[in-house]
Amino acid sequence: MGARVTSLRQVSAGPSLSIDLAAVAANTRRFVSLARGGVMAVVKADGFGHGLGDVARTAVAAGATWVGVTSLAEAVAVRESGVDVPVLSWLNPVDADVRTAVRYGIDLSVPSLEHLAVMEAGVRVHLQLDTGMARDGAAPETWLSLMSAARRAELAGRVSVVGVMGHLPCADILGANESGKRALLRGVAMARQAGLRPSVRHLAATSAALTDPGTHLDVVRIGAGLVGIDPSGTTRLRSALRFTAPVVQVRRVAAGTGVGYGHAHVTDRATTLALLPVGYADGLPRTASGNAEVWLAGRRRPVAGVISMDQVVVDVGDDVVEPGDEAVVFGPGDDGEPTVGDWARWSGTIPHEIVTGIGARVRRSVR
Ligand SMILES: *Cc1c(COP(=O)(O)O)cnc(C)c1O
Repeated sequence: MGARVTSLRQVSAGPSLSIDLAAVAANTRRFVSLARGGVMAVVKADGFGHGLGDVARTAVAAGATWVGVTSLAEAVAVRESGVDVPVLSWLNPVDADVRTAVRYGIDLSVPSLEHLAVMEAGVRVHLQLDTGMARDGAAPETWLSLMSAARRAELAGRVSVVGVMGHLPCADILGANESGKRALLRGVAMARQAGLRPSVRHLAATSAALTDPGTHLDVVRIGAGLVGIDPSGTTRLRSALRFTAPVVQVRRVAAGTGVGYGHAHVTDRATTLALLPVGYADGLPRTASGNAEVWLAGRRRPVAGVISMDQVVVDVGDDVVEPGDEAVVFGPGDDGEPTVGDWARWSGTIPHEIVTGIGARVRRSVR
């Protein structure tokens, strides 16, 4: 009777994402100790899906001296979460609310003359240079005019240029960072020639921070690494997520039973199928169908058929599984359960996309 009540409670709990902030703290400390300068905790996209405020506060408590995000809205949320170190926002439209940035003490990147033109009230800025991405940042042929205009704006009291930043396009390929680093240092030299005195030069993200100390400069910007993702494949970091779902239904089926939409899977023997209330709306990529596994009743089990929006079917063979049993969709991998990296591989993507794609209806809890 007691066990039954417990399992019903688990059923009503639904899918659940548990976030281990001790892992974030441990990863942060690791970067703090290896960085030649400071560490900026990058908490864009809701802290890579781990909670923007929680990751920011945890990282700062563990030694990060900056926090970085893309949008100004995220930067304000970081500030409102109680973080008091410098915060940088580096991806804003030209009509970004500069006064809000000043009011909240947020640094803004300046990637173009158009962005510079709207800066006011002495806002602290980082000149954002395209050091090889052809993505965000000022194109090299515009650096000279950007820097002289920034100097004029500084003399007029409209901005204070505190930093110069770039980004590396191929940092997970060993030896591919030289041209990006040369470009950034050339930009810094040009800024100084224009009369600017930027004190914070930053270029490296997780991969370069782990593999190429020559790119560290004054601050490394670490996002993926804080949440246990190492794109360089060189370092074992701690994963912070555990994604679970309760079995809601169990049934025995005969050999030759088509399972789910399109009967993409047909059982080759009599077997037991367990239903989990979690699907692609919750962040399990549908493209993982046919490869995906979950941990249930002590071992990995294949997901049978296609991943639906709200549910998946798990083939447990002849083993005994009951409604209310907990399946682990992914976790750190310590007990053999699938990892974020496994789901990325099964669906042809990178771990970043898995952790930032967990659906809004998944209940989150922090450990
Ligand atoms: C996302 C981002 C980072 C963090 O990169 P990771 O590889 O996740 O550490 C750093 N800098 C910029 C400009 C970014 O957009």
